[in-house]
Amino acid sequence: MRRLTFLLFPLVLTACSAGVLRVQPAAEWSLDSDAFQVDAAAFRDISRQVGDEARAECLRQAKVNNCDFTILVDLNPRASANAFQTLDEDDQPVIIVTRAMIQSVQNPDELAFVMGHEAAHHVLGHIARQSENAQESAVIFNELGKLHGEGGEDLERTQKLGAEVGVQVNVKAFELEADQLGTIITHNAGYNPLVGAKYFDRIPDPGDQFLGTHPPNAARVQIVLETAKQLGLTQ
Ligand SMILES: [Zn+2]
Repeated sequence: MRRLTFLLFPLVLTACSAGVLRVQPAAEWSLDSDAFQVDAAAFRDISRQVGDEARAECLRQAKVNNCDFTILVDLNPRASANAFQTLDEDDQPVIIVTRAMIQSVQNPDELAFVMGHEAAHHVLGHIARQSENAQESAVIFNELGKLHGEGGEDLERTQKLGAEVGVQVNVKAFELEADQLGTIITHNAGYNPLVGAKYFDRIPDPGDQFLGTHPPNAARVQIVLETAKQLGLTQ
């Protein structure tokens, strides 16, 4: 598991047990995106609102028992536009948004949507489920390998392939689940997921590849629209 000690220049926001996010060092920074200027204070507001709602949703669903979110920004200029999640030393969820990611959003709703999506992966227990899928798939491929008389290195290679297929097949379903719950978290946090999901219009479409890690953008937009409709939101 990736540890956070080697992150460069992080602004650390910690969710305490009362569910209030506090700033650890009050680092000050400001980034310009094309249409929207994000500084430490704006980031703090958005992450506090999304972090609080993600925590509430996490406690409500009770699929995992670690619900105190920390949202960090990685100001490393070499990191590509990305947001991801990990766990800290106390097993609490951490969402990391890179500088390039912040520079690629056009409004607070898009940033909130990205954070909501990442938080949803944790609330839904995707990390644990992903490694379970990998193990199950590796077992099946192991049996297949034995049937074909494989042994030693060949068998190991087959197991490894099985684990990879197990992860990849489920990863697209996980993305859509995270988009659905992310839409709800974004809405509850006071942002508009329909505006936030416009982000998909600008990122490259991975298409529908069997072993691709992300579903086609159209499928992701579709699930956001359906969920927003259930929330009573209209475009
Ligand atoms: Zn995702």
